[in-house]
Amino acid sequence: MTQIELAGRGEITEEIKKVASGEGIDAEVIRRRVSAGRIVIPANKNRSIRVVGIGKGLRTKVNASIGTSTDIADINMEVEKARVAEKYGADTLMDLSVGGDIAGIRGAVMDAVTLPIGTVPLYEAFSMAIEKYGAAVEMPAEMLFEIMEKQCEEGVAFMAIHCGINRRTVEMLRKQHYRYGGLVSKGGSYMVAWMEHNNMENPLYEHFDRVVEIMKKHDVVLSLGNGFRAGAIHDSTDRVQIQELLINCELAETGREMGCQTMVEGPGHIPIDEIEANIILQKRMSGEAPFYMLGPITTDVAPGYDHITSAIGAALSSAYGTDFICYVTPSEHLGLPYPEDVREGVMAARIAAHIGDMVKYKQKDRDKEMSRARRDMDWQKQFSLAIDPERAREIKAKRGNGDSNTCTMCGSFCANKILSGMFEEDKKGSDKE
Ligand code: SF4
Repeated sequence: MTQIELAGRGEITEEIKKVASGEGIDAEVIRRRVSAGRIVIPANKNRSIRVVGIGKGLRTKVNASIGTSTDIADINMEVEKARVAEKYGADTLMDLSVGGDIAGIRGAVMDAVTLPIGTVPLYEAFSMAIEKYGAAVEMPAEMLFEIMEKQCEEGVAFMAIHCGINRRTVEMLRKQHYRYGGLVSKGGSYMVAWMEHNNMENPLYEHFDRVVEIMKKHDVVLSLGNGFRAGAIHDSTDRVQIQELLINCELAETGREMGCQTMVEGPGHIPIDEIEANIILQKRMSGEAPFYMLGPITTDVAPGYDHITSAIGAALSSAYGTDFICYVTPSEHLGLPYPEDVREGVMAARIAAHIGDMVKYKQKDRDKEMSRARRDMDWQKQFSLAIDPERAREIKAKRGNGDSNTCTMCGSFCANKILSGMFEEDKKGSDKE
Protein backbone atom coordinates (compact mmCIF):
# COMPACT_ATOMS: atom_id res chain seq x y z
CA MET A 1 0.00 0.00 0.00
CA THR A 2 1.06 3.59 -0.56
CA GLN A 3 1.64 6.25 2.08
CA ILE A 4 -1.66 7.91 1.19
CA GLU A 5 -3.57 4.63 1.46
CA LEU A 6 -1.95 3.71 4.78
CA ALA A 7 -2.55 7.21 6.16
CA GLY A 8 -6.17 6.95 5.00
CA ARG A 9 -6.54 3.81 7.12
CA GLY A 10 -5.33 5.75 10.15
CA GLU A 11 -1.82 4.34 10.13
CA ILE A 12 1.11 6.48 11.23
CA THR A 13 3.88 5.00 9.11
CA GLU A 14 7.61 5.12 9.87
CA GLU A 15 7.95 7.70 7.09
CA ILE A 16 5.24 9.88 8.63
CA LYS A 17 7.01 9.66 12.00
CA LYS A 18 10.29 10.75 10.41
CA VAL A 19 8.67 13.70 8.65
CA ALA A 20 6.93 14.70 11.90
CA SER A 21 10.10 14.59 13.96
CA GLY A 22 12.17 16.42 11.30
CA GLU A 23 9.63 19.23 11.03
CA GLY A 24 8.62 19.37 14.70
CA ILE A 25 4.95 18.71 13.88
CA ASP A 26 2.61 16.21 15.50
CA ALA A 27 2.59 12.91 13.57
CA GLU A 28 -1.21 12.76 13.57
CA VAL A 29 -1.35 16.13 11.79
CA ILE A 30 1.07 14.83 9.15
CA ARG A 31 -0.99 11.63 8.79
CA ARG A 32 -4.17 13.59 8.16
CA ARG A 33 -2.49 15.77 5.54
CA VAL A 34 -0.91 12.77 3.78
CA SER A 35 -4.31 11.10 3.78
CA ALA A 36 -5.89 14.22 2.24
CA GLY A 37 -3.13 14.46 -0.39
CA ARG A 38 -1.84 17.77 0.98
CA ILE A 39 1.53 16.27 1.90
CA VAL A 40 3.45 13.73 -0.18
CA ILE A 41 6.35 11.58 0.99
CA PRO A 42 8.46 10.20 -1.86
CA ALA A 43 9.16 6.75 -0.47
CA ASN A 44 9.76 4.23 -3.25
CA LYS A 45 9.92 0.87 -1.55
CA ASN A 46 12.82 -0.24 -3.77
CA ARG A 47 15.44 2.21 -2.51
CA SER A 48 16.43 3.28 0.96
CA ILE A 49 16.49 7.09 0.94
CA ARG A 50 16.36 10.12 3.16
CA VAL A 51 12.71 10.69 4.07
CA VAL A 52 11.41 14.08 2.96
CA GLY A 53 7.87 15.41 3.28
CA ILE A 54 6.55 17.99 0.80
CA GLY A 55 3.41 19.99 1.32
CA LYS A 56 1.13 21.88 3.65
CA GLY A 57 2.74 23.22 6.81
CA LEU A 58 6.20 21.85 5.99
CA ARG A 59 9.43 23.69 5.31
CA THR A 60 9.64 24.63 1.61
CA LYS A 61 11.78 21.99 -0.06
CA VAL A 62 14.44 22.52 -2.73
CA ASN A 63 15.13 20.32 -5.72
CA ALA A 64 18.38 20.38 -7.69
CA SER A 65 18.24 19.11 -11.25
CA ILE A 66 21.29 17.58 -12.83
CA GLY A 67 21.78 15.41 -15.91
CA THR A 68 23.64 15.07 -19.16
CA SER A 69 22.82 16.61 -22.52
CA THR A 70 23.43 15.14 -25.96
CA ASP A 71 26.49 17.44 -26.20
CA ILE A 72 28.04 16.78 -22.78
CA ALA A 73 27.55 13.36 -21.22
CA ASP A 74 30.13 12.95 -18.48
CA ILE A 75 29.02 10.46 -15.85
CA ASN A 76 31.71 11.51 -13.35
CA MET A 77 30.64 15.12 -13.55
CA GLU A 78 27.00 14.17 -12.96
CA VAL A 79 27.97 12.15 -9.89
CA GLU A 80 29.99 15.12 -8.64
CA LYS A 81 27.04 17.44 -9.25
CA ALA A 82 24.80 15.07 -7.30
CA ARG A 83 27.26 15.07 -4.38
CA VAL A 84 27.55 18.86 -4.47
CA ALA A 85 23.75 19.19 -4.42
CA GLU A 86 23.52 16.90 -1.39
CA LYS A 87 26.43 18.59 0.40
CA TYR A 88 24.91 22.06 0.02
CA GLY A 89 21.50 21.04 1.27
CA ALA A 90 19.20 20.14 -1.62
CA ASP A 91 16.25 18.08 -0.39
CA THR A 92 15.77 16.11 -3.60
CA LEU A 93 17.57 15.59 -6.87
CA MET A 94 16.22 15.18 -10.38
CA ASP A 95 18.33 13.35 -12.93
CA LEU A 96 17.23 14.83 -16.26
CA SER A 97 19.85 13.11 -18.40
CA VAL A 98 19.15 12.92 -22.12
CA GLY A 99 22.64 12.00 -23.37
CA GLY A 100 24.98 9.03 -22.96
CA ASP A 101 24.04 5.93 -20.98
CA ILE A 102 20.96 7.38 -19.29
CA ALA A 103 20.18 4.35 -17.12
CA GLY A 104 23.85 3.94 -16.13
CA ILE A 105 24.11 7.61 -15.12
CA ARG A 106 20.93 7.33 -13.05
CA GLY A 107 22.28 4.24 -11.30
CA ALA A 108 25.60 5.94 -10.50
CA VAL A 109 23.82 9.03 -9.18
CA MET A 110 21.52 6.90 -7.01
CA ASP A 111 24.54 5.10 -5.57
CA ALA A 112 26.31 8.38 -4.81
CA VAL A 113 23.63 10.12 -2.72
CA THR A 114 20.81 9.35 -0.30
CA LEU A 115 18.46 12.02 -1.67
CA PRO A 116 15.12 11.03 -3.21
CA ILE A 117 15.64 10.95 -6.98
CA GLY A 118 13.16 12.29 -9.51
CA THR A 119 13.10 11.81 -13.27
CA VAL A 120 11.18 12.69 -16.41
CA PRO A 121 10.67 9.21 -17.92
CA LEU A 122 9.72 10.72 -21.28
CA TYR A 123 13.36 11.69 -21.77
CA GLU A 124 14.63 8.14 -21.60
CA ALA A 125 11.73 6.86 -23.72
CA PHE A 126 12.24 9.43 -26.48
CA SER A 127 16.05 8.94 -26.39
CA MET A 128 15.56 5.19 -26.71
CA ALA A 129 13.16 5.71 -29.63
CA ILE A 130 15.72 7.88 -31.42
CA GLU A 131 18.33 5.18 -30.90
CA LYS A 132 16.10 2.28 -31.94
CA TYR A 133 13.85 3.78 -34.61
CA GLY A 134 15.76 6.87 -35.71
CA ALA A 135 13.15 9.40 -34.52
CA ALA A 136 11.37 10.27 -31.27
CA VAL A 137 8.02 10.39 -33.09
CA GLU A 138 8.39 6.68 -33.96
CA MET A 139 8.27 5.72 -30.27
CA PRO A 140 5.67 3.00 -29.60
CA ALA A 141 3.39 4.20 -26.80
CA GLU A 142 4.10 1.00 -24.91
CA MET A 143 7.73 2.04 -24.53
CA LEU A 144 6.67 4.92 -22.28
CA PHE A 145 4.97 2.59 -19.81
CA GLU A 146 7.87 0.13 -19.86
CA ILE A 147 10.38 2.89 -19.06
CA MET A 148 8.21 4.14 -16.20
CA GLU A 149 7.95 0.65 -14.76
CA LYS A 150 11.70 0.11 -15.08
CA GLN A 151 12.56 3.40 -13.39
CA CYS A 152 10.10 2.66 -10.57
CA GLU A 153 11.76 -0.71 -10.01
CA GLU A 154 15.17 0.99 -9.81
CA GLY A 155 13.96 3.19 -6.96
CA VAL A 156 13.08 6.54 -8.53
CA ALA A 157 11.06 8.40 -5.88
CA PHE A 158 9.05 10.87 -7.97
CA MET A 159 8.40 11.31 -11.65
CA ALA A 160 7.40 14.36 -13.66
CA ILE A 161 4.94 13.01 -16.20
CA HIS A 162 3.28 15.13 -18.88
CA CYS A 163 -0.29 13.85 -18.59
CA GLY A 164 -1.93 17.27 -18.97
CA ILE A 165 -1.06 17.63 -22.65
CA ASN A 166 -3.99 16.43 -24.72
CA ARG A 167 -5.44 17.16 -28.14
CA ARG A 168 -7.63 19.91 -26.75
CA THR A 169 -4.66 21.76 -25.20
CA VAL A 170 -2.66 21.36 -28.43
CA GLU A 171 -5.61 22.80 -30.34
CA MET A 172 -5.79 25.72 -27.90
CA LEU A 173 -2.09 26.36 -28.43
CA ARG A 174 -2.65 26.48 -32.18
CA LYS A 175 -5.64 28.83 -31.88
CA GLN A 176 -3.82 31.15 -29.52
CA HIS A 177 -1.53 32.17 -32.42
CA TYR A 178 1.28 33.42 -30.26
CA ARG A 179 3.93 32.11 -27.93
CA TYR A 180 6.87 34.45 -27.69
CA GLY A 181 8.96 31.75 -26.05
CA GLY A 182 7.46 28.77 -27.89
CA LEU A 183 7.46 25.57 -25.87
CA VAL A 184 10.43 25.20 -23.54
CA SER A 185 9.65 21.84 -22.00
CA LYS A 186 11.68 19.12 -23.71
CA GLY A 187 9.18 16.42 -22.75
CA GLY A 188 6.27 18.68 -23.70
CA SER A 189 7.55 19.56 -27.16
CA TYR A 190 8.49 15.97 -27.97
CA MET A 191 5.06 14.80 -26.83
CA VAL A 192 3.28 17.40 -28.98
CA ALA A 193 5.44 16.41 -31.97
CA TRP A 194 4.60 12.72 -31.32
CA MET A 195 0.86 13.45 -31.15
CA GLU A 196 0.94 15.54 -34.33
CA HIS A 197 2.98 12.98 -36.26
CA ASN A 198 0.90 9.99 -35.19
CA ASN A 199 -2.40 11.86 -35.09
CA MET A 200 -3.05 10.27 -31.70
CA GLU A 201 -3.99 11.31 -28.19
CA ASN A 202 -1.24 11.55 -25.55
CA PRO A 203 -1.08 8.01 -24.13
CA LEU A 204 -0.24 9.44 -20.70
CA TYR A 205 -3.55 11.30 -20.72
CA GLU A 206 -5.58 8.61 -22.46
CA HIS A 207 -4.33 5.85 -20.16
CA PHE A 208 -3.90 7.89 -17.01
CA ASP A 209 -5.20 5.03 -14.90
CA ARG A 210 -2.32 2.90 -16.13
CA VAL A 211 0.20 5.61 -15.19
CA VAL A 212 -1.34 5.74 -11.72
CA GLU A 213 -1.22 1.97 -11.28
CA ILE A 214 2.50 1.88 -12.10
CA MET A 215 3.26 4.70 -9.64
CA LYS A 216 1.10 3.13 -6.96
CA LYS A 217 2.74 -0.25 -7.22
CA HIS A 218 6.05 1.24 -6.02
CA ASP A 219 4.67 4.23 -4.10
CA VAL A 220 6.30 6.73 -6.44
CA VAL A 221 4.97 10.30 -6.27
CA LEU A 222 3.33 11.34 -9.54
CA SER A 223 4.33 14.90 -10.32
CA LEU A 224 2.01 16.25 -13.00
CA GLY A 225 4.45 17.97 -15.32
CA ASN A 226 3.83 21.19 -17.15
CA GLY A 227 4.77 20.75 -20.76
CA PHE A 228 3.06 24.03 -21.69
CA ARG A 229 4.71 26.13 -19.03
CA ALA A 230 5.55 29.64 -20.09
CA GLY A 231 9.18 29.95 -21.09
CA ALA A 232 8.87 33.69 -21.58
CA ILE A 233 7.48 36.42 -19.34
CA HIS A 234 5.07 37.51 -22.10
CA ASP A 235 3.55 34.01 -22.31
CA SER A 236 2.86 33.60 -18.63
CA THR A 237 -0.61 32.74 -17.37
CA ASP A 238 -1.89 32.34 -20.94
CA ARG A 239 -4.85 30.13 -21.87
CA VAL A 240 -2.86 27.05 -22.70
CA GLN A 241 -0.77 27.19 -19.52
CA ILE A 242 -3.88 27.53 -17.39
CA GLN A 243 -5.74 24.84 -19.36
CA GLU A 244 -2.92 22.38 -18.70
CA LEU A 245 -2.83 23.41 -15.04
CA LEU A 246 -6.57 22.77 -14.80
CA ILE A 247 -6.20 19.30 -16.32
CA ASN A 248 -3.25 18.52 -14.07
CA CYS A 249 -5.24 19.59 -11.00
CA GLU A 250 -8.11 17.31 -12.04
CA LEU A 251 -5.70 14.44 -12.62
CA ALA A 252 -4.03 15.07 -9.26
CA GLU A 253 -7.41 14.57 -7.64
CA THR A 254 -8.16 11.45 -9.69
CA GLY A 255 -4.75 9.94 -8.88
CA ARG A 256 -5.20 10.72 -5.20
CA GLU A 257 -8.60 9.05 -5.17
CA MET A 258 -7.00 5.99 -6.73
CA GLY A 259 -4.47 5.84 -3.88
CA CYS A 260 -1.47 7.45 -5.57
CA GLN A 261 0.52 10.32 -4.08
CA THR A 262 0.34 13.29 -6.47
CA MET A 263 1.66 16.82 -6.81
CA VAL A 264 1.29 19.48 -9.50
CA GLU A 265 4.05 21.37 -11.28
CA GLY A 266 4.00 25.08 -12.03
CA PRO A 267 5.80 27.37 -14.43
CA GLY A 268 8.32 28.54 -15.59
CA HIS A 269 8.72 32.24 -16.42
CA ILE A 270 6.25 34.56 -14.60
CA PRO A 271 6.42 38.26 -13.69
CA ILE A 272 6.21 38.74 -9.94
CA ASP A 273 2.71 40.25 -10.06
CA GLU A 274 1.27 36.98 -11.45
CA ILE A 275 2.91 34.52 -9.04
CA GLU A 276 0.24 34.69 -6.35
CA ALA A 277 -2.59 34.15 -8.86
CA ASN A 278 -0.91 31.00 -10.19
CA ILE A 279 -0.62 29.59 -6.69
CA ILE A 280 -4.19 30.45 -5.70
CA LEU A 281 -5.47 28.73 -8.87
CA GLN A 282 -3.38 25.60 -8.35
CA LYS A 283 -4.27 25.23 -4.68
CA ARG A 284 -7.95 25.89 -5.24
CA MET A 285 -8.33 23.64 -8.27
CA SER A 286 -6.32 20.70 -6.92
CA GLY A 287 -7.72 20.51 -3.40
CA GLU A 288 -4.37 21.80 -2.07
CA ALA A 289 -2.13 19.24 -3.71
CA PRO A 290 1.55 20.09 -3.10
CA PHE A 291 2.76 22.63 -5.66
CA TYR A 292 6.16 22.14 -7.26
CA MET A 293 7.23 25.43 -8.80
CA LEU A 294 10.05 25.64 -11.30
CA GLY A 295 11.48 28.91 -9.98
CA PRO A 296 9.67 30.86 -11.32
CA ILE A 297 12.10 32.97 -13.33
CA THR A 298 10.88 36.55 -13.05
CA THR A 299 12.60 38.30 -15.95
CA ASP A 300 13.99 37.12 -19.28
CA VAL A 301 16.88 39.56 -19.53
CA ALA A 302 19.46 38.32 -17.01
CA PRO A 303 21.23 35.32 -18.55
CA GLY A 304 24.14 34.36 -16.30
CA TYR A 305 22.12 35.38 -13.23
CA ASP A 306 19.04 33.19 -13.52
CA HIS A 307 19.76 31.65 -10.10
CA ILE A 308 18.92 35.17 -8.86
CA THR A 309 15.91 35.85 -11.14
CA SER A 310 14.44 32.51 -10.06
CA ALA A 311 15.33 32.95 -6.37
CA ILE A 312 13.34 36.20 -6.37
CA GLY A 313 10.39 34.31 -7.83
CA ALA A 314 10.90 31.33 -5.55
CA ALA A 315 10.95 33.49 -2.40
CA LEU A 316 7.60 34.99 -3.41
CA SER A 317 6.10 31.69 -4.51
CA SER A 318 7.16 30.02 -1.27
CA ALA A 319 5.65 32.91 0.72
CA TYR A 320 2.37 32.54 -1.21
CA GLY A 321 2.18 28.80 -0.60
CA THR A 322 4.40 26.86 -3.00
CA ASP A 323 5.67 23.76 -1.23
CA PHE A 324 8.58 22.68 -3.38
CA ILE A 325 10.88 24.76 -5.57
CA CYS A 326 13.23 23.68 -8.29
CA TYR A 327 16.52 25.51 -8.32
CA VAL A 328 17.90 27.29 -11.35
CA THR A 329 21.64 27.68 -11.93
CA PRO A 330 23.62 30.63 -13.36
CA SER A 331 24.09 28.63 -16.56
CA GLU A 332 20.35 28.40 -17.31
CA HIS A 333 19.64 29.28 -20.96
CA LEU A 334 23.39 29.22 -21.67
CA GLY A 335 24.88 25.78 -21.14
CA LEU A 336 24.98 22.59 -19.12
CA PRO A 337 25.65 23.41 -15.46
CA TYR A 338 28.98 22.51 -13.87
CA PRO A 339 29.32 21.48 -10.21
CA GLU A 340 30.05 25.08 -9.12
CA ASP A 341 26.80 26.17 -10.81
CA VAL A 342 24.95 23.49 -8.83
CA ARG A 343 26.28 24.94 -5.58
CA GLU A 344 25.19 28.46 -6.58
CA GLY A 345 21.77 27.22 -7.63
CA VAL A 346 21.15 25.20 -4.47
CA MET A 347 22.21 28.04 -2.19
CA ALA A 348 20.08 30.61 -4.05
CA ALA A 349 17.03 28.34 -3.87
CA ARG A 350 17.61 27.51 -0.19
CA ILE A 351 17.83 31.22 0.63
CA ALA A 352 14.60 31.79 -1.32
CA ALA A 353 12.87 28.93 0.50
CA HIS A 354 13.96 30.33 3.86
CA ILE A 355 12.72 33.83 2.98
CA GLY A 356 9.40 32.36 1.86
CA ASP A 357 9.02 30.29 5.02
CA MET A 358 9.70 33.36 7.18
CA VAL A 359 6.51 34.84 5.74
CA LYS A 360 4.47 31.66 5.27
CA TYR A 361 5.05 30.37 8.79
CA LYS A 362 6.09 33.58 10.57
CA GLN A 363 9.38 31.89 11.46
CA LYS A 364 11.91 34.59 12.13
CA ASP A 365 13.80 33.22 15.16
CA ARG A 366 16.91 32.25 13.24
CA ASP A 367 17.15 35.75 11.77
CA LYS A 368 16.73 37.26 15.22
CA GLU A 369 19.57 35.12 16.52
CA MET A 370 21.76 36.19 13.61
CA SER A 371 21.01 39.87 14.28
CA ARG A 372 22.05 39.48 17.90
CA ALA A 373 25.21 37.64 16.90
CA ARG A 374 26.10 40.45 14.45
CA ARG A 375 25.41 43.14 17.02
CA ASP A 376 27.56 41.30 19.55
CA MET A 377 30.23 40.46 16.92
CA ASP A 378 29.95 36.78 17.83
CA TRP A 379 31.48 35.40 14.66
CA GLN A 380 31.24 31.70 15.49
CA LYS A 381 27.52 32.09 16.18
CA GLN A 382 27.10 33.97 12.90
CA PHE A 383 28.80 31.14 11.01
CA SER A 384 26.69 28.50 12.72
CA LEU A 385 23.48 30.33 11.78
CA ALA A 386 24.53 31.07 8.19
CA ILE A 387 22.80 29.19 5.37
CA ASP A 388 26.26 28.64 3.85
CA PRO A 389 28.72 28.70 6.79
CA GLU A 390 31.57 27.55 4.55
CA ARG A 391 31.34 30.60 2.31
CA ALA A 392 30.86 33.01 5.24
CA ARG A 393 33.96 31.64 6.99
CA GLU A 394 35.98 31.73 3.78
CA ILE A 395 35.24 35.40 3.04
CA LYS A 396 35.86 36.49 6.62
CA ALA A 397 39.18 34.65 6.72
CA LYS A 398 40.39 35.90 3.34
CA ARG A 399 39.53 39.52 3.98
CA GLY A 400 40.35 39.59 7.67
CA ASN A 401 42.11 42.44 9.45
CA GLY A 402 43.49 40.44 12.33
CA ASP A 403 40.95 41.98 14.70
CA SER A 404 38.49 39.21 15.40
CA ASN A 405 35.82 41.63 16.63
CA THR A 406 35.37 43.62 13.45
CA CYS A 407 35.73 43.02 9.73
CA THR A 408 37.36 45.00 6.93
CA MET A 409 34.02 46.38 5.71
CA CYS A 410 34.26 49.37 8.09
CA GLY A 411 37.48 48.71 10.02
CA SER A 412 37.82 51.12 12.91
CA PHE A 413 34.48 52.70 11.94
CA CYS A 414 32.75 49.49 13.01
CA ALA A 415 29.36 50.65 14.29
CA ASN A 416 28.93 47.54 16.39
CA LYS A 417 32.21 48.17 18.17
CA ILE A 418 31.51 51.87 18.72
CA LEU A 419 28.22 51.15 20.47
CA SER A 420 29.31 47.83 21.93
CA GLY A 421 27.34 46.98 25.07
CA MET A 422 24.59 49.54 24.48
CA PHE A 423 22.03 46.97 23.29
CA GLU A 424 22.94 43.95 25.37
CA GLU A 425 19.44 43.33 26.68
CA ASP A 426 16.23 43.36 24.64
CA LYS A 427 14.48 45.15 27.50
CA LYS A 428 11.87 46.93 25.46
CA GLY A 429 11.07 43.85 23.46
CA SER A 430 10.39 45.30 20.02
CA ASP A 431 9.75 41.77 18.91
CA LYS A 432 7.98 41.10 15.62
CA GLU A 433 7.02 37.52 16.40
S1 SF4 B 1 33.15 46.39 10.53
FE1 SF4 B 1 31.16 47.04 9.72
S2 SF4 B 1 30.38 45.25 8.62
FE2 SF4 B 1 32.07 44.53 9.90
S3 SF4 B 1 31.12 43.90 11.83
FE3 SF4 B 1 31.64 46.03 12.12
S4 SF4 B 1 29.80 47.16 11.50
FE4 SF4 B 1 29.59 45.05 10.69
